[in-house]
Amino acid sequence: MQTIDKFNFAGKRAFVRVDFNVPLDDNFNITDDTRIRAALPTLKKVLADGGSLIIASHLGRPKKNPDTKYSLKPIVAHVSELLGVDVKFVPDCMGDATAKIAAELKPGEALLLENLRYYAEEEGKARGLADDATDEEKSAAKKAVKESQKTFTKTLASYADCYVNDAFGTAHRAHASTALIANYFDADNKMFGYLMNKEVVAVQKVLAETVHPFTAIMGGSKVSSKIEIIENLLTKVDNLIIAGGMTYTFTKALGGKIGNSLVEEDKLDLALDLIAKAKENNVNLVLASDAKIADSFSNDANTTFVPVGAIPDGWEGLDIGPETEILFANVIKNSKTILWNGPTGVFEFENFTHGSRSVGEAIVEATKNGAFSLVGGGDSVACVNKFGLADGVSYVSTGGGALLEAIEGKSLPGIEAIRGY
Ligand code: AMP
Repeated sequence: MQTIDKFNFAGKRAFVRVDFNVPLDDNFNITDDTRIRAALPTLKKVLADGGSLIIASHLGRPKKNPDTKYSLKPIVAHVSELLGVDVKFVPDCMGDATAKIAAELKPGEALLLENLRYYAEEEGKARGLADDATDEEKSAAKKAVKESQKTFTKTLASYADCYVNDAFGTAHRAHASTALIANYFDADNKMFGYLMNKEVVAVQKVLAETVHPFTAIMGGSKVSSKIEIIENLLTKVDNLIIAGGMTYTFTKALGGKIGNSLVEEDKLDLALDLIAKAKENNVNLVLASDAKIADSFSNDANTTFVPVGAIPDGWEGLDIGPETEILFANVIKNSKTILWNGPTGVFEFENFTHGSRSVGEAIVEATKNGAFSLVGGGDSVACVNKFGLADGVSYVSTGGGALLEAIEGKSLPGIEAIRGY
């Protein structure tokens, strides 16, 4: 497989798919440029080698072409500043004018294409169907967009000599620019960017090259959204810590009293099933033993600590208790591979952050002692950032859905398109 480190971009035009889907305020100012900064090592390597850049991204969910609310134009100045070159911009990723500008790029020059998702062909999903469209109409529209997607993809590929995918956030989508385009480049001329490579290596270290004991901490709100992940992890981990809102579905299934705590009544059997599967696989399933409970869903609620299965009516568990913090920390500190997804409590409320912070701190300590730790998938990333612990873990993933699908054991189209599996 080709790698960006080995590749010499001198005299080459590189099509680099990045994730510049940054948040903008009402005046189109970037409010968080993390995603742009994350792609800089890849973009700078191409320019430093003497190559030229065709940078492509999506932004938001435009529904038509053009859809100026979702234009990438407002970010050009900032990208130029960070990259240290004047980035050219074209208001359409298709068309003769764009092809001409791409063809005339000189070494060291960079071009940013307008939002790829102005075109339905990027995602390959039919647009503009009437609400009462028949199944035949839907299927004809789908077929048509899949057909025109081939021309769209081929046109994007025609701008460049090589293809670099650095957009891990969309690696779970088989879109034109994230996966299909790779078919137009031979194996020597397509590769992951540095960011994508770091993500792939981190997931591999956790799921494929695991050093045991392996502990996964699954928090967050609902079991229903994590079933596939938990099932896949039960074939891989030594310890599975269940935390957050899903705790109470397990507790209730085991006959505990959970008061007003979050529960999925239709998942009680599933919880018992997962407990049985853990036993079958010799996995140590670790459930909370006490909870910090509140008399309303609010930061200012009255609180107290009780055993997790003895929550009085009118009260709800919003975080783990001190006994559970110690229980979880002991398991975490004895681990060599750690995956953390989802907070242990309602961390948005300051008074219910203690459990998530203690899990984060235990992970940092284990990491200091040589464990590999991966934190990812939404709110646990917000947690480590909020508690200033990001530098103490081995890797914080940038991918939400993409990381979760990778943990579910699915193969991601964006990775497969380059690696071949
Ligand atoms: P997820 O997106 O599944 O990772 O869930 C994250 C959300 O779970 C956060 O918004 C937390 O506030 C929420 N959460 C965590 N613990 C609890 C709990 N005990 N009760 C209700 N919500 C919770």
